[in-house]
Amino acid sequence: MKPDLSNGGGIKMFLVDLIFPSRCPFCDKVIPYDRLCCERCFDECKWSDENICRYCGKSVLRGCLCDEVTYDECVCAAYYSGNARKAIRNLKYRHEGAGAVVFGRVLHDMLIERDLLKSIDIAVPVPMYKGKLRERGYNQAELIAREIVRNTDISIRNDLIYRDDPETEQHLLGAEERRKAAFSQYHAAKAELDGETILLIDDVLTTGSTFSACTDELRRIGAGKVICAAAVTAGE
Ligand SMILES: [Zn+2]
Ligand SMILES: [Zn+2]
Repeated sequence: MKPDLSNGGGIKMFLVDLIFPSRCPFCDKVIPYDRLCCERCFDECKWSDENICRYCGKSVLRGCLCDEVTYDECVCAAYYSGNARKAIRNLKYRHEGAGAVVFGRVLHDMLIERDLLKSIDIAVPVPMYKGKLRERGYNQAELIAREIVRNTDISIRNDLIYRDDPETEQHLLGAEERRKAAFSQYHAAKAELDGETILLIDDVLTTGSTFSACTDELRRIGAGKVICAAAVTAGE
């Protein structure tokens, strides 16, 4: 199920490459201007397999979380381990969009394989809080979303859910606190949906609480089925 790993190339990409050489999101090495990543890095990445629960997105070997999550289905491109860790870090902190394209293409193909893509009406990237978005300049979940919906008529909506500025940095919280924080941070905007099928997108799936919180909010304003897509799922 390997997707096309070329980035389209063209003279513009070639010229851009002379100034900003393309780097592989998995290993940071310089790669040809018309590639998204090394072939070898792609092959070495631990892509998701039959041990990932198709409903909650967690490993069935470590105990799936179906009883705790509120969304309907979930696709995850890879395990959060090995070189995927680096690709996610690059995506968040180094303005490297190529990783988002690679994960987005894999998720796109998985959604087609499961016959889900054509049922989706709206794509909603999990929002970042405003301060963080200002600081980073982009939402990595949106970069992944753009690649998933490319060449479809699914629209991306960033106006349906917003996130409050947190009082404590997420990474300083324990699992239970994080879960509680997730449920109080996401809010639906004043909008009315009419049973549309939503695709929620994020970079990392950890406990499922972020996806669940967003799902609850979307359902409150009339969403129908909610399918989640994460670049990686934590825990093997
Ligand atoms: Zn590489
Ligand atoms: Zn499950």
